[in-house]
Amino acid sequence: MLDTLRSIVQEVNAVPDLDAALAIIVRRVREAMGTQVCSVYLVDQASGRYMFMATEGLNEAMVGHLSLGPGEGLVGLVGQRAEPINLNDAPGHPNYFHFPEIGEEPFNAFLGVPIIHHRRVLGVLVVQQQATRRFDESEEAFLVTLSAQLAGVIAHAEATGGMDQLGQRGAERQDARFVGVAGAPGVAIGTAVLMFPPANLDAVPDKEAEDVTVELLLFERALNAARSDISSLRDKLASSLAPQEQALFDAYLHMLDDRALGGEISALIRQGQWAQGALKNVIAEHVAHFELMEDSYLRERAADVKELGQRVLAHLQEAVRPKKHFPEKTIIIGEEITPGMLGEVPAERLAGIVSMRGSGNSHIAILARAMGVPTVMGAVDLPLSQLQGRELIVDGFYGQVYANPTRSLREQYEEVIEDERQFFAGLGELRDLPCETTDGHRIALWVNIGLSVDVERSLDRGAEGVGLYRTEIPFMSADRFPTEEEQRVMYRESMVAFNPRPVTMRTLDIGGDKALTYFPIQEENPFLGWRGIRVTLDHPEILLVQVRAMMKASAGLKSHLRIMLPMITNLSEVEEALGLIHRSYDELLDEGHEIRKPEVGVMIEVPAAAYQSRLIAEKVDFLAVGSNDLTQYMLAVDRNNPRVADLYQDLHPAVLGAIRWVVESARAAGKPSGICGELAGNPAAAVLLMGMGFDVLSMNSTNLPKVKWVLRSFSLARAAELATEALGMASSEEIQTFMHEVLVAKGLGRAIRPDPRVAA
Ligand code: PEP
Ligand code: MG
Repeated sequence: MLDTLRSIVQEVNAVPDLDAALAIIVRRVREAMGTQVCSVYLVDQASGRYMFMATEGLNEAMVGHLSLGPGEGLVGLVGQRAEPINLNDAPGHPNYFHFPEIGEEPFNAFLGVPIIHHRRVLGVLVVQQQATRRFDESEEAFLVTLSAQLAGVIAHAEATGGMDQLGQRGAERQDARFVGVAGAPGVAIGTAVLMFPPANLDAVPDKEAEDVTVELLLFERALNAARSDISSLRDKLASSLAPQEQALFDAYLHMLDDRALGGEISALIRQGQWAQGALKNVIAEHVAHFELMEDSYLRERAADVKELGQRVLAHLQEAVRPKKHFPEKTIIIGEEITPGMLGEVPAERLAGIVSMRGSGNSHIAILARAMGVPTVMGAVDLPLSQLQGRELIVDGFYGQVYANPTRSLREQYEEVIEDERQFFAGLGELRDLPCETTDGHRIALWVNIGLSVDVERSLDRGAEGVGLYRTEIPFMSADRFPTEEEQRVMYRESMVAFNPRPVTMRTLDIGGDKALTYFPIQEENPFLGWRGIRVTLDHPEILLVQVRAMMKASAGLKSHLRIMLPMITNLSEVEEALGLIHRSYDELLDEGHEIRKPEVGVMIEVPAAAYQSRLIAEKVDFLAVGSNDLTQYMLAVDRNNPRVADLYQDLHPAVLGAIRWVVESARAAGKPSGICGELAGNPAAAVLLMGMGFDVLSMNSTNLPKVKWVLRSFSLARAAELATEALGMASSEEIQTFMHEVLVAKGLGRAIRPDPRVAA
């Protein structure tokens, strides 16, 4: 049963469009269940009706011509109830709806199950049989399981199908919306350019060949180049290889032969696929075939086939690479956008970024925020290959992407862009003013940095210090751990730029979603694994080099160096890290360096640390709440998983309650507290955080002027009242609505841009 399920899902997954997917579903389900009929009805978004979309066993001529309203007929009833209906005598049911044209008179037994994706009923999957009998429990369970697995595939294919139709109808425009998560704020309107990593078969999209003859030629050339690579490698190694190893090279050459893989790929190109897509599909099929083999030797051949495929692909891409053109307002889209891809696009042409993988906290999103490029992450249903060259709107505020927008939507977003531009220009005059409340309270607004471009932007926007320097970011673009001197130069640059302002450097926070290519960490559950301080305490040599470089970088400057420890869960970790830092400091003094003793603080981002914050505060110089991780760990929501992104609520009352606990613990211990998660840069939340008593709010430089504008309009006393009120509320939505109303009533609504979908 499991094999059948898996193979149906795999087969459906492999086809590019909705019609083909539905045709496979009805054929394979009918076969697998031994029924006489299998049909699929899908909900039409506009009318809410269940359209008869595919069938095996009923009148196929009626496909696309019949529909049922919600609650109408048995199909409508399954959809309305969102649960299966299993009947031995369907015509006898009061809801039975008789369509004479469809030819279902002979069928008595009926089993319909809803197709549900993200709580939304997408359609109904039906099997029917002549015999008057109830489908048994295992049949029902099979169909329910299959439907649950196919829902995601159908949702994706539906989105893709929508785009297909747009293409065919040419001029007709209809907003096709794809939902992701906010990556970097702002709106961009531009042209999509599809990016994929070089020589990565998995990332090659399916695409129709523009010219089959050209694609065949390109493939032939790439194949020959790969063949000659292999031959010359064999000749070069001939003297040092055993005969059976030499035979392996011959086997590779044989595999590329016209009678083997080469022939299959050419055949697929002749059917209309572009060369890279045909190569990917044929290789994937063979890899899957080898991977299923019992014999371990044969199973390992899967890797050989893949390697051959990558080699041919590299040559194919080499031949076509120079053609890449970046229009004036380029929006790069891809399965996984990487920092390397950003480098391919001329900076002045890069308008927006859309990535199918990742979330607002991925490395690329952090980079995009630093560069001020509107970005949407986790847009999982994006039909990549069909968007190439199309006009897109990227809404980085709300994590939405629109393809082929209607004129009215485009105009709305053009207004948003202009509005933002004017708004930011207007905020420029706040640059040199302090963040002082109407009752004279001063709160420090600092910035989070990680890239060299951050420095200039931050100073431009009036940053009074650095609350978080993510040191792992420069580590990520290196190909080995940077030396102490390399790190010192890097840190010194930032410290000098911010001098005499305080600079908070976090020790290396790798693990979780932040990987170093030269120090891979493979884990089932990386966010609960070897991360942050856990790694650096296990590798004191890494920590010692880093803190020495930080301290040396601060020599002779007025800027105060603050060293901050990420991912602290236990007091013993604080004690150990303090021991290492103090040891390094003493050694540097012994070596003759004149360095002021750095302050050392702890990030509170694990619930355990929040509850022990009083004890921790007593041991260190300051506390800083990392609300990004604190939210993920308190709410048990992976911050990178777009599927649960709506459950990731940093304004959740439980999160705010823990944050207040931290502020009060720090105050009780007589130590300052700050917050450097994204929450601090949310103007509405910033009012509450100031009201709770934070000394420092550290945020992305983009948000700093907005936050300053809002905070300068409140008194500390009023902010404290609002914080108390918000903390008594039941949900994040309630708090959000409450603060929204407060800001709007004060004429500060522009700091929280209204959702254009609501305004529309
Ligand atoms: C946080 O967790 O809130 C934080 C600031 O650190 P990072 O986002 O780098 O994990
Ligand atoms: Mg963190």
